[in-house]
Amino acid sequence: MNYCSLCGEAVVTRIPPGDNRQRHVCDDCGAVHYVNPKMVVGAVVEWGEEILLCRRAIEPRQGYWTVPAGFLEVGETLEQGAAREALEEAEADIVIRDLLSVINVTRVGQVHVMFRAHLEQPEFGAGEESLEVALFAQAEIPWRELAFPSVRFTLERYYQDRAAGVQGVHITEVGRWR
Ligand code: ZN
Repeated sequence: MNYCSLCGEAVVTRIPPGDNRQRHVCDDCGAVHYVNPKMVVGAVVEWGEEILLCRRAIEPRQGYWTVPAGFLEVGETLEQGAAREALEEAEADIVIRDLLSVINVTRVGQVHVMFRAHLEQPEFGAGEESLEVALFAQAEIPWRELAFPSVRFTLERYYQDRAAGVQGVHITEVGRWR
């Protein structure tokens, strides 16, 4: 940030009184512009034994596979955001069931929250941000072509739970890709 989003004057970077981190501070109007992590919400969407994956049409990781997921919007609950992303990316009407994973992606200032969900109908398609959308059996999951470490973590835990007949909640911090 170079200019204050409230008054338009130049901002400086320093530690405000009573704080312990560098912030963008406007000395003209006194605003402190905090930068906080962004939320990404998504879902492992089932139809029977299969799950829905989207091949990304956009960067980052264009051409790689992901569960439907994206940035939470202001005014949405986590569940609403995950359902909206499934509609946008996979043209899928989904039912959110329960929490599956929370991934702290501290390196890029994001928190990813993934749910278990299922399709209302076996109907889906490639939304604007997807090259293709398809159902995958466990043996068909393209593990080497997954878009993000949070997707890998989520799918690994999802299948471990399924094999064990449980539905756990899994929390982790992921580091660098590969
Ligand atoms: Zn200002």
